Amino acid sequence: MFKTEVLVIGGGATGAGIARDLALRGAEVTLIEGSDFAFGASGRCHGMLHSGARYAVTDPISASECAIENKILKRIADFCIEDTGGFFIGLPNDDECYPDLFMSACRKAGVDAIEISVNEAFKEEPLLSENIVASIDVPDASIDPFMLVLGNIESARSAGSTALNYHLVRKFDVRESRIEKVYVENLRNGSIDEYRPEIVINATGAWANHIAALAGVSIDLTMDKGSMVVLGRRFTHRLINRLRKPSNGDIVVPNYSSSIIGTTSITVSSPTSTSVSEQEVDLLMREAAMMMPPINASRAIRAYAGIRPLVSRKGGDSREISRTFQLIDHSEKGIENLISVIGGKLTTYRLMAEKVSDIVCSRLGISASCRTSLEPLSIPYGEMHNKMIGRGSPTVEIQTHENNGELRRDEVVCSCEKIKRQEVEFWASHPDVRGLSDVMRRTRAGMGYCQSGLCVFNLLTMLIEYSDTDPLYLLTEYLKEREKGIKPVLLKGQIVEEIFKECLLNGVYHISDLAEALRNEENAEGRN
Ligand SMILES: Cc1cc2nc3c(=O)[nH]c(=O)nc-3n(C[C@H](O)[C@H](O)[C@H](O)COP(=O)(O)OP(=O)(O)OC[C@H]3O[C@@H](n4cnc5c(N)ncnc54)[C@H](O)[C@@H]3O)c2cc1C
Repeated sequence: MFKTEVLVIGGGATGAGIARDLALRGAEVTLIEGSDFAFGASGRCHGMLHSGARYAVTDPISASECAIENKILKRIADFCIEDTGGFFIGLPNDDECYPDLFMSACRKAGVDAIEISVNEAFKEEPLLSENIVASIDVPDASIDPFMLVLGNIESARSAGSTALNYHLVRKFDVRESRIEKVYVENLRNGSIDEYRPEIVINATGAWANHIAALAGVSIDLTMDKGSMVVLGRRFTHRLINRLRKPSNGDIVVPNYSSSIIGTTSITVSSPTSTSVSEQEVDLLMREAAMMMPPINASRAIRAYAGIRPLVSRKGGDSREISRTFQLIDHSEKGIENLISVIGGKLTTYRLMAEKVSDIVCSRLGISASCRTSLEPLSIPYGEMHNKMIGRGSPTVEIQTHENNGELRRDEVVCSCEKIKRQEVEFWASHPDVRGLSDVMRRTRAGMGYCQSGLCVFNLLTMLIEYSDTDPLYLLTEYLKEREKGIKPVLLKGQIVEEIFKECLLNGVYHISDLAEALRNEENAEGRN
């Protein structure tokens, strides 16, 4: 039985931010994540650090929150932000009144928006459509959500808290209106651990209702799927947004060596409904190509989706802190030590964490105030970290001195993303890492235009030095996961790469046959 003052469920940006904030104020915190950190919406967003401009007209409160948090995050988390800036561009058939409305709304929300001439916009970003009729410069930026979450986890741990991934909350023991015990399954070995927390925080995003149901309460939420397409190259230095009310396919985010187009909006019934249809891919590429015509002819390398929990305003038990996110104190519905936090943005995670932590600290009698806007985040792997802008740069040299240990560590093992051996080895040996997807999330190895076709065996060789798991199992699990995102974009140029990969993996190495043999062996032994 483990005792802890606060048990935070969910290791996305919100949960990790809460763990960090509370730990810095001196609370005893344990964070539990059922999969890998940033597995949910945090790792499935565009990676846009909003300036607030996108919401200025339609959601001014959210816009001013983003404007403030944008500045704070650029200060405390610069290691995972590429400060690209952004353009909002208008096209001929867009509402002519919108630019004025937009500028005035940005002024009110505190967003630094500057109108620039169309010629100036072209000079800066030559691949924009020749048809643009208006352009506005805003301080949007590109952010690496995996590194942001890991930076918060690292900071929380340095301040004394415990953060466990691959630990799934299974059950609550509720007595006299309190969660007395939380049963957590350790997915690494199948054991069940018991925790006795004073306060439980539900920061599970789209899974929030599942957790609430374990305590016998409910949250009135709608799950909204947004799909995105990754293109194999960068078109612009800046983020490009369409100068109109937020809609489908109106954002292009430069992300390391690739570009992410977003997004769609479809109501779904489960937090795991993240498959993307070919129609969504078509829609996204068509709309984005209106802003940047070369997108039409470019290769889509994968598609993915995230689920945003939208809270209904009618929910009687919610305590609305803002229109953009909600804190729900379940004591009003009979569970006195459970607080849920829903909605918001990756950009505003720190603010959400501050509001939750204020409530928790007042209940625990902790008077320390929030320090998260002042103290820089810990860099997840210290000196090892390449500034994101350095990655994918042609200046990284490939070392071939196989016998020299030091030089070999500088060898590039994923050539699409220019990821070095030392980076992969660092994470492969890290206790948080279980499989190849975990290595990929932390390094970007395998995320580039070959989609791991060329580097997967390099990565596997490094991981198995530190893992007891069968290499074939690690490989097939990883390929299964990657396949999900590749299928919807096969006809958008990725098919050639996939045929090549198929020949390599199954024609040369017979991976499918070996995997089937492994499955048969496991069945014969009575496993799974
Ligand atoms: C399509 C899309 C695009 C977006 N783009 C942007 C953007 O560009 N910029 C921006 O600022 N915001 C963006 N957002 C919003 C942003 O992604 C979210 O607001 C934010 O990531 C939510 O983080 P979270 O920690 O609350 O939830 P999540 O990241 O979903 O974390 C919840 C975690 O809880 C874990 N969990 C669930 N059940 C259990 C359990 N039983 N036990 C233990 N753990 C459990 C899950 O595994 C998950 O990791 C986007 C959202 C979507 C859907």
